Amino acid sequence: MYRTRAVVMGAGIVGCACARELALAGFDVTVVERGAAASATTAHGEGNVLVSDKGPGPELELARLSRALWPRVLAAVAERNAHAARAVEWEPKGGIVVATTDAGARELTRFAAAQRTAGVHTEDLDADALAAAEPYLTREAAAAVHYPEDAQVQPAAAAAALLTEALAAGAALRTHCEVFGAVTRGGRITAVRTSAGPLEADCFVNAAGPWAGELATRLGAPVDIRPRRGDVLVTTPLPPTVFHKVYDADYVGAVGSGAADLQTSAVVESTRAGTVLIGSSRRRVGFDDRLRPEVLSAVAATALRLFPALAAVPVMRAYGGFRPYVPDHLPVIGADPRLTGLWHAGGHEGAGIGLSVGSARLLRQLLLGEPTDMDTTPFRVDRPAVLGEHTRTTGEETA
Ligand SMILES: Cc1cc2nc3c(=O)[nH]c(=O)nc-3n(C[C@H](O)[C@H](O)[C@H](O)COP(=O)(O)OP(=O)(O)OC[C@H]3O[C@@H](n4cnc5c(N)ncnc54)[C@H](O)[C@@H]3O)c2cc1C
Repeated sequence: MYRTRAVVMGAGIVGCACARELALAGFDVTVVERGAAASATTAHGEGNVLVSDKGPGPELELARLSRALWPRVLAAVAERNAHAARAVEWEPKGGIVVATTDAGARELTRFAAAQRTAGVHTEDLDADALAAAEPYLTREAAAAVHYPEDAQVQPAAAAAALLTEALAAGAALRTHCEVFGAVTRGGRITAVRTSAGPLEADCFVNAAGPWAGELATRLGAPVDIRPRRGDVLVTTPLPPTVFHKVYDADYVGAVGSGAADLQTSAVVESTRAGTVLIGSSRRRVGFDDRLRPEVLSAVAATALRLFPALAAVPVMRAYGGFRPYVPDHLPVIGADPRLTGLWHAGGHEGAGIGLSVGSARLLRQLLLGEPTDMDTTPFRVDRPAVLGEHTRTTGEETA
């Protein structure tokens, strides 16, 4: 029986999730990755699976879909490979958002009320409840909201688990294989030119993360997905100090802003190894990979306002990565209207770990022409933020 051939370009968590969905649906999948699997953005972020930072709208709906899928996906992984599932370090530990000013408290209260109407589970915490939940947190909080649905994964292990599922379902993986361009016939993409020669297929999924814009240009169908730098500090392993995903209420504003200059907000979480991840910054500096002391110290200072006790804790290392950013802050999921056979799955900015499984589900449903679990119109490729801005991209993005 003929199986539809799909080439997934990029083996970050989004490409791995797409490969898994398509392979399980019976596609003949080849994943093409110019480096190693899960070695790019997916290995340079944190592992928050959040509903708490999204206001009512399509991204929240996708986050809720993904949040519902994660335990099911991981249960399926565990059936085949318990070790791979354990490595994902899935922890539904819940998130706590803290406002430290009265204005921030008003905004947080308003935001949480709107989320409740969209079905998000939230609980206001008074000072005693907050101190019980997070004993090392500042006592200066003006308001705090608990989001029990927030969870955490180890991102590279999560991508590996998804990829393992795809491979077990028959997918092939070609690493160190770069896509350079498209072979087209009559407005349809029929093959990609790669460093290992041409690769034919019936459909091609651009899952190249922050390089999705560059790859799309190579394929002749540009989309406006750009890098937005983020840096994270990692402490030495500590005794239990941070029990939830804790972030300051300013984080939501920083996520929603498109400003190019430095923005920092505190996002603090512990990992199973005992280290504490302290994020994060947002800067649009192209693919400038240099760590900047002033950025790291701004990230640290913001976190210390939430957790003064961390002042005495050694920082073991710092790292950064490039969030795949679209000017309207929504992912791009669907068919390219200009080149038949080309599909996009990307632009998840700072939420691609959490949103990967839901995005892959939607992509698979769209590819098969099935009803989708949610309205995918807001993620369509032919919206102005994706197609319009690209031609206006200038040197602003180069470091
Ligand atoms: C500091 C920081 C913190 C973050 N924290 C979180 C978080 O807590 N929760 C969350 O959900 N998200 C978080 N993110 C965002 C998340 O990491 C990204 O949204 C996600 O990893 C994007 O995955 P991806 O598969 O789209 O991209 P990537 O992981 O970058 O994968 C794309 C792949 O495509 C490959 N590729 C590119 N061009 C080509 C080509 N021409 N040919 C072949 N292969 C190609 C690349 O090598 C790469 O491996 C964070 C990001 C950063 C930087």
